[in-house]
Amino acid sequence: MMVPEPLPVMQVSVLGAGTMGHGIAQVSAMAGHEVTMRDIEMEYVRNGMDAIEENLQGGVERDKVTQAELSATLDRISGTTSLEEAVADADLVVEAVPEDMELKRETVSDVETLVGEETIIASNTSSLSVTEIMSALDSPERGIGLHFFNPVHIMGLVEVVVAEQTDESTLAFASEFVEGLDKTAVEVGDSPGFASSRLGVALGVEAMRMVQEGVASPHDIDDAMELGYNHPVGPIELGDVVGLDVRLGILEYLREELGERFRPPQILKRKVRAGKLGKKTGEGFYVWEDGEIVGVSEDVMGR
Ligand code: NAD
Repeated sequence: MMVPEPLPVMQVSVLGAGTMGHGIAQVSAMAGHEVTMRDIEMEYVRNGMDAIEENLQGGVERDKVTQAELSATLDRISGTTSLEEAVADADLVVEAVPEDMELKRETVSDVETLVGEETIIASNTSSLSVTEIMSALDSPERGIGLHFFNPVHIMGLVEVVVAEQTDESTLAFASEFVEGLDKTAVEVGDSPGFASSRLGVALGVEAMRMVQEGVASPHDIDDAMELGYNHPVGPIELGDVVGLDVRLGILEYLREELGERFRPPQILKRKVRAGKLGKKTGEGFYVWEDGEIVGVSEDVMGR
């Protein structure tokens, strides 16, 4: 398959306008690419656009972004609910739909029927097998994982996940795209949880078990890792920021693939069942208001 060199300016299509999708759309547009962002409801697209504007506005206030950059970035992003419109002319499609194998396979397969032969198709999955997702394609050599981190506009890392079928030229294209976003690409094999999720989740799940067993409060566990190990954010707070439903989904998958050490603790399941998903719903292990922690959830011990 002929894969083009990454162009300085590309047409990038992002599927999903949620936590990750809007962030990927933002950083792509900031790097000068033309971006379309697709979600299933116009309301979600608008929420994504609002979140991008808010992030950029925050950047202006902190003197990281100029007013002109803010306007130019927003001008380069268009939103739609039509998949056809979103991927038309795309050089690169990045899917950031929910972490569900069937949905992702269906999504990339639908995309392939609508794009040209040279379009690269990437998945932002945080733990699913990219090989399995991309095997839904007729030309799986164009498929690759681009695992961005949350919040996308702040985090400097992207794991480039090389599937069994990924072509060398697809890998080169994806790595250059990531570098063009001013982020560092690390290349990882397609093993469950890749490098980062596997290690990050291992720490997170043990921290939740410690809360469940009453070993220490969320604040004390987070302080221990922040002050004792220099982690910028503690594991309990990070779970709330990522979303406890997202964490649970990853744990269930890693347990299936790698064994009982990843078994989700009851406290996590209870929280997800109660809709206490973390920062995005206002309560997880912590209570959140306007994006800030204002207390500890009543059903965990704490201060
Ligand atoms: P999210 O729930 O915030 O956003 C997903 C969005 O996709 C929703 O707005 C949903 O309406 C939309 N969607 C559903 N079906 C769609 C379709 N067919 N086409 C287009 N949009 C569709 O989820 P998220 O946290 O942004 O996660 C998205 C992906 O990114 C997942 O695979 C997740 O594992 C991965 N990821 C998440 C994080 C994180 O910290 N949240 C980090 C890295 C990777």
